[in-house]
Amino acid sequence: MLDYTFTEEQDLFREAVHEWLSKNLTLEQVRQNDTNHELPKKLIKGLGDLGLLCLTLPEEDGGSDADWVTATIGAEELGYADLSVATPVFYLVQASWGYVINKLASETVKEKYIRRAGTGNGFLGIGVTEPGGGSDVAGFKTNFMPHKDGGWNVNGEKCYISGTAEAVDVDGGYFVSGFTKREAGHRGMTAAFVPLNWEGVEITKRFENMGRMAISTGGFQMTDVHMPEEYQLGETNRGFYHTMEGFDAARVLVSASCIGASQRGLEIGSDYIKEGEAVG
Ligand SMILES: Cc1cc2nc3c(=O)[nH]c(=O)nc-3n(C[C@H](O)[C@H](O)[C@H](O)COP(=O)(O)OP(=O)(O)OC[C@H]3O[C@@H](n4cnc5c(N)ncnc54)[C@H](O)[C@@H]3O)c2cc1C
Repeated sequence: MLDYTFTEEQDLFREAVHEWLSKNLTLEQVRQNDTNHELPKKLIKGLGDLGLLCLTLPEEDGGSDADWVTATIGAEELGYADLSVATPVFYLVQASWGYVINKLASETVKEKYIRRAGTGNGFLGIGVTEPGGGSDVAGFKTNFMPHKDGGWNVNGEKCYISGTAEAVDVDGGYFVSGFTKREAGHRGMTAAFVPLNWEGVEITKRFENMGRMAISTGGFQMTDVHMPEEYQLGETNRGFYHTMEGFDAARVLVSASCIGASQRGLEIGSDYIKEGEAVG
């Protein structure tokens, strides 16, 4: 039979994260961050110091080597603290897509981009969605064509992408997949890590969301971007499967942060009902 009991370590982790967040990320601060459209650097550094960023990555790559139940506890507590889910999104993208990126990355990508993300001085995001649609990964327009100097020549556009402003700020990048053999359908896609500061990558816009404004949601255009071979993630034409692996990991953490946010919403709502006076 499956045992759903948390370990003592996991209970202690939850307590430590909960306590830190109750002091360092109050509801007033969450509102302020949302109004200012900003995740304060001090907060991100604090999450890094606590070992929360890139939690699932191995320690030698800047993570905490945490198991997935522990990562889920972190997502739930962050969702509870930050009702606008700005911080949990920042956390879960790096714990899920960051995990896949790290697993497939070359030493160059690890050294230049991954190892500093765990301290808050980097960013690992997911750039799947395109202007034509997000669900239909195999219907994307992004192409990777062989480059004359080796590697790939990348053309495509991504939109509704979390954390583009934060990524630019700390010289971070994104997991992106594109077609290397379009006629093979989903079996002709390849994954890569694309830093946003590369020549040919241009931020297109910042979207206005309803809530969740502390973390940016933007888009980027890739025009004849030369991607050296060592920025490819995994094997050629396996990109669709790597993309799906990221979704599998992210879904669990998204669900956990929603549970945390719902719990907090319920508590705030029931407190308000108890204190409220009926009109009339
Ligand atoms: C605040 C915010 C942040 C985001 N951050 C990111 C991010 O960091 N990275 C990223 O890559 N994306 C991000 N997204 C995009 C999000 O993941 C997309 O909204 C998602 O991929 C769905 O794409 P879409 O909106 O184009 O919907 P569509 O793909 O057009 O789908 C619309 C609806 O149609 C359904 N549908 C689609 N195709 C079919 C079909 N063939 N048959 C039946 N039903 C179908 C879908 O299930 C869905 O219900 C973000 C979105 C928001 C709102």
